[in-house]
Amino acid sequence: MNNELLEKLKAGRVHLHEIGDAQNASVAVEHRRAAISELTGVGFRHISHFSFDAEDAAKRNIENMIGAVHVPLGVAGPLRVNGDYASGDYYIPLATTEGALVASADRGCSVITACGGANVRIFRDEMTRAPVFKTKDVAGAKRLTEWVKENFQRLKERAEETTRFGKLLSVEPFVAGRSVYLRFAYDTADAMGMNMVTIATDAAVDLVLSENDVELVALSGNMCTDKKPAAMNIIMGRGKTVSADVILGEEIIQEKLHTTPERMAEVNYRKNLLGSARAGSLGFNAHAANIAAAMFIACGQDAAHVVEASNAMTTMELTEEGLYCSVTLPSLAVGTVGGGTRIGTQQECLAMLGAAGAGNPPGTNAKKLGEIIAAAILAGEISLIGALAARHLAKAHAALGR
Ligand code: NAP
Repeated sequence: MNNELLEKLKAGRVHLHEIGDAQNASVAVEHRRAAISELTGVGFRHISHFSFDAEDAAKRNIENMIGAVHVPLGVAGPLRVNGDYASGDYYIPLATTEGALVASADRGCSVITACGGANVRIFRDEMTRAPVFKTKDVAGAKRLTEWVKENFQRLKERAEETTRFGKLLSVEPFVAGRSVYLRFAYDTADAMGMNMVTIATDAAVDLVLSENDVELVALSGNMCTDKKPAAMNIIMGRGKTVSADVILGEEIIQEKLHTTPERMAEVNYRKNLLGSARAGSLGFNAHAANIAAAMFIACGQDAAHVVEASNAMTTMELTEEGLYCSVTLPSLAVGTVGGGTRIGTQQECLAMLGAAGAGNPPGTNAKKLGEIIAAAILAGEISLIGALAARHLAKAHAALGR
C-alpha cells in the first residue's frame, strides 16, 4: 500500500479516477477501497473478495472500481426449449436476492418440461438508436424525411463502415413540429448492440448534417427508446421480439400447480389482461421483470434493459388439449458478446446455456439466449399464475421469502 497516495486520496488531492492510469487496476482498486474504507469507517470484508479479472473489468465495465457486490446465484430447471436456436434441456441461472423466485421459476420449468417444452420463435431482431434533429420549420422536416428515404443506401454504407457485424436495416422518421427523430434499426449479431449502434449512427449523422440544413440536437432523442417504458418498443420492437408457448395438460396442472386450467385462465384474464388495462400498464404480465432481472444479472446483460423486457404480454386460453399459455416479449435486448458478458462469473452462466461468446454463424448465440430467456419467463408466468389460482402465493413467500 502506498501510504502517501492513500492520504492524497482521502484528502481529495488525488481524485478516485486519477489513480487508474498511474497504477495497474488491481492496485488502484485496493487503494481506492482502502481510502473509502477509512473515510466511511466500513471494513469491506465482502466487497474486497472477487475472482474476475479487475484489469479487464476496469478497462471496459466499471470506473472507480473498489470491489464487487455478490448476488446469490440459483438454478431452475431443467427447462425444455424447442426453439430455432435453443433446442434441448437447460439449467437456468438466476442471480437474485428475492426468496421464492428461484423456487417459483423451477416449478414453472418442471411444468413446461413435463408438457414437452416451450416452443419459442423470434419474429424481429433489431437494436435502435434515434437521434433528434431540429429543422427550420415543418417544410424542412418534410425535406429531411424525404432525403432519408432517398439516401438510405448511403446512410447504410456510412454506418456500416464503423462495424464488422452491424447491419443497418431501416431508418424510420418521426416528426414533432420541426423536430425530426430518425430511428435507426440494426442487426447487431451476437451483441446487444447499444454501443455498436450508437457509434454507427453517429457516423451516419455526419452524412445527414453534411447534406441537409438541419441541426443535430442529440444523438439519442428518446424515440430509441432506451431504458424507459415506451409504447414505441412494444409496437415497433427493440432488441429481440420473441414469443414462447406451451399447452399444459389438466393433470399436470393439478399435480404440480394444485389448481385447474379454468382457474388459471380466469386469473390471467382478470389480472394480466383486464387488470393491466385498467391500470394503464405497458406490461400485461405477472412478473416477467423478475426472471428477466435475475437472468440479466447472472448472464452479464445490461440490467437497465429489464425495463424493455417487462413489456411482456401473457395469454392463457382453454383449449381441448389443455391450457394454452404464451408470453410475447416485443423488446428483449440481450447479447452474448460485449458489455458485461465478458466478466468471468457471467461468462460461466452463459456457458451453462451453451451461449457464451460469438455464435457460428454470428448472431446465433444471442438468439439462443433470447429464446431461453423467453421460455424461462413463460415458466415464471405459469408458476405465479398457478400460485395465485391455488391461493398459494402468500404461503410460499411466508415459507421461502422471509
Ligand atoms: P460492446 O461491448 O461495445 O461490444 C460489441 C462489439 O463486439 C461489436 O461492436 C463487435 O465489434 C464485436 N463483436 C465480436 N464478435 C461479434 C459478434 N459475433 N456479433 C456482434 N458483435 C461482435 O457491446 P454492445 O453490445 O455494442 O454494447 C453493449 C454495452 O453498451 C453494454 O455495456 C451496455 O451497458 C452499453 N450501453 C451503451 C449505451 C450507449 O448509448 N452507448 C446505451 C445503453 C447501454 P465491431 O462492431 O467492431 O465489429
